[in-house]
Amino acid sequence: MTTHEIQSDGQRFIFQVVKNTTKPCPVCGVPACGKEDILWYEHNQHRMAIIFDGGYFDLAGQEFFRKKLKTINYDSLPEFMKEWNESRGWEDCWDYEGYPLDIDDFLASIDLLRSCDLEKWLTKDELDDMQALATNARKKGATLKIVRG
Ligand SMILES: [Zn+2]
Repeated sequence: MTTHEIQSDGQRFIFQVVKNTTKPCPVCGVPACGKEDILWYEHNQHRMAIIFDGGYFDLAGQEFFRKKLKTINYDSLPEFMKEWNESRGWEDCWDYEGYPLDIDDFLASIDLLRSCDLEKWLTKDELDDMQALATNARKKGATLKIVRG
């Protein structure tokens, strides 16, 4: 398993990379143009992480709300989805200590994203990986966290 290291405010954050779906940008060569979002849980002092393209993830969110906003009951949406749409909570977390997510709420969000064809920005494989990571976190009694890159 490869590791991913980030230096921020004089602190070192090391992630054990379960999956990294970012690709080097064709223009600047930097993976995801530097917008690498990380989803992880901590277990035995290791951060088990999925790294994904935050720019694409946001485009998936925008498309979800553009397609569904008129037909869904907004109040009943998972908190993760509301925070995403309202640019608060996890959506606004740039600290590598991470923003803790409610696992059931996050899994409900993954199901909603699955119900909408977002393949251009967010593949079924990526959704499967996120679901598996969240499920593992729950099995281990660990906290699921996310940070914006
Ligand atoms: Zn770029």
